[in-house]
Amino acid sequence: MSEERPGFDDTPWLPTGEYRVHDPDRPHPTKVDPAGPVTIEPPADATVLFDGSDLDSWESEDGGEPTWTIEDGDLVVEPKTGDIRTTEPLGDCQLHLEWATPADPGDARYPGNSGVFMSDRYELQILDCWEKTIYADGYTGAVYGQHPPGVNACLPPGAWESFDIVWHDPVFDGEELVSPAALTAFHNGLLIHENVEPFGPTHYQTQQDYEPHGPAPLRLQDHSDPVRFRNIWYRPLE
Ligand code: MG
Repeated sequence: MSEERPGFDDTPWLPTGEYRVHDPDRPHPTKVDPAGPVTIEPPADATVLFDGSDLDSWESEDGGEPTWTIEDGDLVVEPKTGDIRTTEPLGDCQLHLEWATPADPGDARYPGNSGVFMSDRYELQILDCWEKTIYADGYTGAVYGQHPPGVNACLPPGAWESFDIVWHDPVFDGEELVSPAALTAFHNGLLIHENVEPFGPTHYQTQQDYEPHGPAPLRLQDHSDPVRFRNIWYRPLE
């Protein structure tokens, strides 16, 4: 993988047959400077997952106490301790969350990596893409390894940013996939996905088909960078 042409020429083809997973020749999203993050206080019918006060709604991947920390009211990834997930499943929902990559990105090739796994399986990428480039399906807001965001709406490292996501779980009839998952998402108020259907769970360099599951927790990724989160809430959809 070269610096000038990030990506892989030997990864599986995506189901559309047009591009490979992390295809180096896939067009990159256009960079659009947003006005800023969208901050929305939880509406009356929201379930608040994090408001700065405690981690009662979260657990570690093994079901123990969450290993991340609260600093100045922000939820901060404790690098190399593992992901955290909600104690309850979300199901179909409208999700709001705000996050910030580290102000000092250092000399990492891909700094500020974290992610939001809808239903524990389908990652919306978080990455510092202010000045850095990566393969198209790895940019912030990408359905990782599958669907690049419509635009690169990143703010400078250290700035607060927002995701607003409308999520529908896949539907199964026994072992049969009836309908894939679907999402619409905004990054800092800019539309990045409109009714996009993941091809299955998201993974690095690989392509995986759907496997039956019911409503599942929201999971946040520890990718060894101290990314911060705040104001996380959702509204279940009927
Ligand atoms: Mg990630």
